[in-house]
Amino acid sequence: MAAPGSSVQAFGNHEDELMSLSPENTATRIAARVDEDRLWRRLMELARVGATENGGVCRLALTDEEIEARRLLIDWALAIGLSVHTDDIANLFFRLEGTESDAPPVVTGSHIDSQPTGGKFDGAFGVVAGFEAVQAIQECGVVPGRPIEVVAWMNEEGSRFSPGMMGSEAFTRRRPMEQILAVADTDGVRTAEALERTLALFPEIPRRAFGFPMTAFVEAHIEQGPLLEELGVPVGVVTGIQGSRRFRVRVTGDEGHAGTLAMPDRKDALFAALEMVGAMRRAFDTDQVKFTVGLFQVAPNVPSVVPSSVLFSIDLRHPDWQTLSRLGDGVSGLCEENRGPCSVTVTEVATSESLEFPVEMRTCIGESAAELGIANTPILSMAGHDARQLHYHCPTGMIFSPCEEGISHHEAESCNPSDLAAATRVLAATIARLANQALAGSRG
Ligand SMILES: [Zn+2]
Repeated sequence: MAAPGSSVQAFGNHEDELMSLSPENTATRIAARVDEDRLWRRLMELARVGATENGGVCRLALTDEEIEARRLLIDWALAIGLSVHTDDIANLFFRLEGTESDAPPVVTGSHIDSQPTGGKFDGAFGVVAGFEAVQAIQECGVVPGRPIEVVAWMNEEGSRFSPGMMGSEAFTRRRPMEQILAVADTDGVRTAEALERTLALFPEIPRRAFGFPMTAFVEAHIEQGPLLEELGVPVGVVTGIQGSRRFRVRVTGDEGHAGTLAMPDRKDALFAALEMVGAMRRAFDTDQVKFTVGLFQVAPNVPSVVPSSVLFSIDLRHPDWQTLSRLGDGVSGLCEENRGPCSVTVTEVATSESLEFPVEMRTCIGESAAELGIANTPILSMAGHDARQLHYHCPTGMIFSPCEEGISHHEAESCNPSDLAAATRVLAATIARLANQALAGSRG
């Protein structure tokens, strides 16, 4: 293995093939060092931490399992000579030094926490791909101009402490720390306590401030949808992330005897809620709208009592922010018009704008893929990711890899090793290019 900085490169089995390549073929050389088996081995090693009986993963943020996964990443990093940093929200950063150590790093990564019945690849792939990409760059003897860092953002999923994306939101200062620290899990443990415990277990890791400058952020992730598989294309160049608006609706009526209370005299909260949901279903029945009522609680929820109260959720998504704004603004009115004799309160609990990643980032990823001869296609992300937060911090892009039948947030989540390797090759070429190209530009 060539020492970092060495100009003499040993390419092992690839020697003959690679020695003839010109310096312009750096991307090809780096991509050739991406080791599909090593990538897969690390993914399976990480998947054993918090493994469930049905082949999935349960690794909730800041639990013993997630802490064990942190140890594994730290071991990997130290074994290949990366330095480790953390911060007050327990994000983990693994750094490959560049020739210009003061330059803002190029950062890649994702998250290692999962849903309670999550899969092996959601989030994990982006972090493991980051390690593989950095190691491929190292083994090529290429010392990047700017430093390159792999990050594991804390609590993307929000399944223990809700809502998620705490690590990337705290880092980019898009959500105040006081708000994050006060969130409690179902056992009453606050994020503040869980963070204190976790950080205390790693006293030797230096802490950094939030919001340090980055040259760029690139997140590799499985698609979590079926499009790439249907197209038979191994790499998606993500154009943007569709926005979402989330509401809670509380309908209040009155309890009554199911046998004696006359129908015209009832204030049935369930019937009112059903009218509201029906009206919204008709109003939102347009192309590309995703409308979900995933939570629906009826009280007192007994067979012979007229329901007095209903709480339900609305999750509304659309790629175009203007359309989503207009539809979301209609929620209150539709609930009010259909409340009948009941009363209703509508609260918007979360808003994420639809966003488009910068053209330069999409071009950089697309050109890296083209240079490597890897088929790719533009694709919109239907799910949210940490890249959403980083988009407001530095030039950001995402690379998608197919997953079987689009199944994700599910123990059956499955990916093809060669597809994952293809996306990792594109990631490696992209971050190497960003680490060097930007400096070449700034040197004039
Ligand atoms: Zn994810």
